[in-house]
Amino acid sequence: MKFDNIIIGGGVAGLTCAIRCAQAGLKTAVIAAGQSALHFSSGSIDVLSRLPTGAVTHYPFNEFETLANQSPDHPYSKLGVDVTHQAIDWYQQTMKNIGIELHHQPDDCNHLRITPMGTFKATWLSQSTVHPFPMFEPAKALHKIALVTIDGFRDFQPQLAADNLRLLPQFANVEITTAAVALPNVELMQRNPCEYRSIDISRVLADDNKLQRFASAMKNAIGETDLVVLPAVFGNGTGIKVIKKLEQLTGYQLCEIPTMPPSLLGIRLEDAMKSYYKSLGGLILAGDEVTHGEFENNQLQRIFTRHHGDMPLMANNYLLASGSFFSRGLHAERHHIEEAIFGLDIAPLISTNHQHWYQSQFFSEQPHQFLAMGVETNQHLQPSLNGNTITNLYCAGAILAHYNPIFEGSGSGVAISTGYHAALSMIALRDNYASSAIFPSLAEGNI
Ligand SMILES: Cc1cc2nc3c(=O)[nH]c(=O)nc-3n(C[C@H](O)[C@H](O)[C@H](O)COP(=O)(O)OP(=O)(O)OC[C@H]3O[C@@H](n4cnc5c(N)ncnc54)[C@H](O)[C@@H]3O)c2cc1C
Repeated sequence: MKFDNIIIGGGVAGLTCAIRCAQAGLKTAVIAAGQSALHFSSGSIDVLSRLPTGAVTHYPFNEFETLANQSPDHPYSKLGVDVTHQAIDWYQQTMKNIGIELHHQPDDCNHLRITPMGTFKATWLSQSTVHPFPMFEPAKALHKIALVTIDGFRDFQPQLAADNLRLLPQFANVEITTAAVALPNVELMQRNPCEYRSIDISRVLADDNKLQRFASAMKNAIGETDLVVLPAVFGNGTGIKVIKKLEQLTGYQLCEIPTMPPSLLGIRLEDAMKSYYKSLGGLILAGDEVTHGEFENNQLQRIFTRHHGDMPLMANNYLLASGSFFSRGLHAERHHIEEAIFGLDIAPLISTNHQHWYQSQFFSEQPHQFLAMGVETNQHLQPSLNGNTITNLYCAGAILAHYNPIFEGSGSGVAISTGYHAALSMIALRDNYASSAIFPSLAEGNI
């Protein structure tokens, strides 16, 4: 089977590249072995909230020059501010066109989203059902907040979140209440509510009748309030419509909060991207896994997958977006790490002693170094194998070295912008190829 492009990985980096290529009419295939990090994510798009030195930044796009000085190999430094901004704007508009509104602040400042622990995390884009707490005055216009869960649901504990929120000086004058609202007909479900995950609850609340009864129970339990914070239990497909309906039924302003995995806010993004990509004619080989590839003349010629055995898949260009250790794109041994499929060159490690790769405290103020490890690439995001650049292979997202998505708060921003940049390179190559076939002298720059 021959394609224009093959993309390895079905996370936000791979799907961004796939959609942009399919929009440009390239015959594209995505191979996705398993779930992406979106199933664990908040569904908000972080661009940059901390520089590599640890300095906090509120205006991500104003900091690219400083970032480039501190970290010239950072993926953002390779792309530059204009392409990165263009990529994030394109993503926002594309998601809007397919029914998912993502908002940023009009002054280009990060905003805060509330976490299930009742703390705040800076981000750039949030879904319209996530309340954007202003960076410098998070409690602005709020006098009373209700943190509400589903009775028996174990993946969000409002009391814990409320206790942490009350510790914040900005919330000293805000009344914070908690409530647990029962799901209708729970006695008929033959399971204890504490066995339910967000996805099970979303199926119950998709039923209009049950949603109405849930709305009445909410109003009785909560009373008057400015904002109701609820766990994200409203489905990935129709979830936004269900929340809007619940807002109408209750008169409350609602705010979704991500839960323990599966995170419906992240899955909502992934499902929407996959559906749109397929509607553009793109192919997804879900559940298949690329095992190895063959290289000739510094080009990747063909790849092999677990399901297709000896039948290779071929393309003009390839993207490797197989994620970090979490998604098994990278593999760690005791003293070194490897890129799992092709054995591509890895960026130099800070130390071969693995004890220097992480902090002893999981929630540390210092970065876990292993998160910045990954594949070395040139300015065009092309990797090398044994020192030779592979000219028809690009890398995007968490497989890349030289950035720390969690410490910097840059995970989805880097994934989207590098996936987008790789797509632009692939589209330009197709266009150059087409023009060189029709107007050879034009393509060579002779006229
Ligand atoms: C727990 C967690 C929470 C996060 N929360 C946020 C957040 O709230 N906001 C934010 O901006 N960022 C967040 N991030 C960071 C961000 O989500 C990631 O950096 C980003 O999603 C990475 O996307 P990716 O496409 O590069 O990789 P992934 O999402 O990891 O996707 C890699 C894909 O490649 C596939 N794959 C791997 N090997 C193969 C193979 N051999 N063949 C075929 N397919 C293969 C995997 O199955 C998977 O589908 C979070 C990260 C984690 C781990």
